Amino acid sequence: MQIREQEIQAHVAETIHTRAQPNVAARDEIISYDPATCLEIGRASVATREDVERAVTLARAAQVEWRAKSYAERGQIILRARQLLLAETEQIAELISRETGKPIAEAVSMEIAPVLDLMRYFANETAKMLRDEKINIGQYGLMRRRSRIRYLPLGVVGIISPWNFPLAIPLGEVVMALMAGNSVVLKPSELTPLTGLKIKDLFERAGLAGDLLHVITGDGRTGASLAESAVNKIMFTGSVQTGKRVALAAAKNLTPCVLELGGKDPMIVLEDASLDIAARAAVWGAFANAGQACASVERCYVHESVHKPFRDLVVRHTRALRQGAGADEDTDVGAMSSERQLATVAAHVEEASERGAEVLTGGARGESSGAFYPPTVLDKVDHSMRIMREETFGPVLPIMTFDTDARAIELANDSEFGLTASVWTRDIKRGERIAKQLEAGTVMVNEVLYTHGLAQTPWGGMKQSGQGRTHGRLGLLELVEPQHIHINSDTRLPSLWWFRYTPHAAKLFRGLAERFTTGSVLQTARLLPAMLRRLRER
Ligand code: NDP
Repeated sequence: MQIREQEIQAHVAETIHTRAQPNVAARDEIISYDPATCLEIGRASVATREDVERAVTLARAAQVEWRAKSYAERGQIILRARQLLLAETEQIAELISRETGKPIAEAVSMEIAPVLDLMRYFANETAKMLRDEKINIGQYGLMRRRSRIRYLPLGVVGIISPWNFPLAIPLGEVVMALMAGNSVVLKPSELTPLTGLKIKDLFERAGLAGDLLHVITGDGRTGASLAESAVNKIMFTGSVQTGKRVALAAAKNLTPCVLELGGKDPMIVLEDASLDIAARAAVWGAFANAGQACASVERCYVHESVHKPFRDLVVRHTRALRQGAGADEDTDVGAMSSERQLATVAAHVEEASERGAEVLTGGARGESSGAFYPPTVLDKVDHSMRIMREETFGPVLPIMTFDTDARAIELANDSEFGLTASVWTRDIKRGERIAKQLEAGTVMVNEVLYTHGLAQTPWGGMKQSGQGRTHGRLGLLELVEPQHIHINSDTRLPSLWWFRYTPHAAKLFRGLAERFTTGSVLQTARLLPAMLRRLRER
């Protein structure tokens, strides 16, 4: 027993050192660790550039048959994979919890439950969302022309995903891409390769042909190879810095990208808010997933008249949180997923303290060898501090005051990010008024953080938080190529605007320019004699 403990201690010391580095053991292998215990969970191979290119080629060949399948046939496979996920919720939640450090409860509530909903939604609704659309082409329609849009699959979609929601983010995108008729090459984070491989396993057992979904494990180099490969679209989720690298690499082939990047999401608490509810929301919004959510509350602005009671409530609810191993069902806040991320959090808190921030609770790492950082509440912060400008991505809630609605809006918008934001008030109309002035892809009134879990609504950011959307119909449209079909049913007459041009034609064109597209049918009818003359003159 003694020896075993010594072994573990030695391993932990070595692992803490290793976890500050990328998880690459050797060129061809990555090690997945439990960040709460620092113990190894398993290993996965590192795909080389050649592996990535081979995966893309095989996925392209497989897509030919898949794109010919009906939405119903594709949906059946998705629903079978969903059944397996549902049946194996416990084991998969445990795997997610071990790879990321998050509590089992969060693995279920923030990853498995929403993605189960997403799978059913897109399996059943994609046909409706992507059916051909007629377009009203105005008075050209009177000339026996019609237009419609059809939505074609893109081909191969490359997905590069982060470690913080290692199941929900990639699986949701895999489902949408497959339903749209694409094949997929997925690169999960080096910190969570086993959850990535689990996605492959689910689809394989659900009967999806092997080459329609490749999961290529590896590190940043593997991601870079995918970004430079011949995929038809890249769905990237991760940091701004890597997102820009991916966009640059993809630009070489003009490969379009959706970039879901970081956030510094503000929460505005007005003086008429239900303070206890707002305080609980701030605590959940900032500390769920140990603050490692792109939509975590990273800045809290509270009206100066309620600052003190709000602050006290936040501190009370924060101190009541239990931090521990994710496997323990009483755990509220788990370990952070990596030492690297913990170091960023510690640096932000340290800098803020040096510049005069007051640490109300937390603020220093404890004795545990795991990657635990205590939920931390800061007061007296300002926008000169990194904690209010850069993405912290950890369990820290900085609080600042404001005096007017205009000032709250100004502070919230004073950021290079624009992912989500929230406003807290009992006056819903006032909340909506403020919401409309905030620069964020999603703005919530009296809710926080959770809307990535809504499969039906678009997800994406403004400013440096990204470009494009995932989820909802707008997200689905990112995964298809719209094709405009235009039909002229009049097979006898040449079009008015073709050659030859004459003075009469020029006069007719002027009349058309004036009335044709904007005028009423009656106004256009007045041009009929001139149109007939035009037809006769050719
Ligand atoms: P990173 O940007 O470090 O990594 C994201 C993915 O990109 C990983 O799979 C990573 O692989 C891969 N990668 C690394 N280098 C390259 C490269 N040169 N070319 C291509 N791919 C590469 O982000 P994190 O994984 O640390 O995730 C945290 C970030 O993600 C935060 O900024 C967070 O806000 C953001 N995020 C945004 C979301 C959104 O919806 N807007 C949702 C969730 C997170 P590897 O890990 O193996 O190095």
